[in-house]
Amino acid sequence: MQASEPTRRMPVLFVGHGSPMNALEGNEFRRGWEETAARLPKPKAVVCVSAHWETPGVSITTADRPETIHDFYGFPHKLFEVRYPAPGDPELARRAADLMKEEPVRLDGSRGLDHGCWSVLRGMYPDADVPTVQISLDTSRPGRFHYALARELAPLREQGVLIVGSGDIVHNLGIMDWRKIDGYDWAQRFNDEVKKRIAAREHQGLVDYETLGPEARLAIPTPEHYLPLLYALGLQERDEPIAFFNDQTVMGSVSMTCLSIGAA
Ligand code: ZN
Repeated sequence: MQASEPTRRMPVLFVGHGSPMNALEGNEFRRGWEETAARLPKPKAVVCVSAHWETPGVSITTADRPETIHDFYGFPHKLFEVRYPAPGDPELARRAADLMKEEPVRLDGSRGLDHGCWSVLRGMYPDADVPTVQISLDTSRPGRFHYALARELAPLREQGVLIVGSGDIVHNLGIMDWRKIDGYDWAQRFNDEVKKRIAAREHQGLVDYETLGPEARLAIPTPEHYLPLLYALGLQERDEPIAFFNDQTVMGSVSMTCLSIGAA
């Protein structure tokens, strides 16, 4: 019997997902996701922590065939027709739940995939052939809870699982301007500050994000789009490189900045 190949440690991603329309449009952000997926080893499964699933406590999807959730409104009809039929992976979900010791994890057999997850994966794996599991966010918990919870998922990386945090470093819909191509000055400054700290591995300030200055309140009026970043950072091993892509602020107050950790 031949010895099986040792499994390489999978990279980790944080993706700025921005507008749900990025699921449809052949734009530069979608191309960035496509190109990144092409560069990475093909994962056995994806575990996604998306801004768009908030629960009290932590839940994980265990459906065999998770449905496509259209959790937005006011967009063209064709966006509501998109289905992303990636299978679930109940066995992986149970394994991930067992790893998370911070608190008991609820197994959710009816929840599907939200647009924070499928709008990006549709670009990365258009054939929907990678089993996908989602973990919810308990946004009542502080940054250090999420960072510590992420660490517990580290063994999955050795098992061919790609862990993806999906949110936006800057996300303020209340003052967003659909017609504006780039970001407001403060949004760009905040995005640059976060990137600088990521590159320098200054995780403590990023975990305690409320202390990142007055612009933090504008960039992170509610925490759900920022917290998925802490799952990616929590999984960074000491020696792992970071690469940024899709690095733009758009529509005034939304950041599309994405990063890969540990990619060759
Ligand atoms: Zn979103």
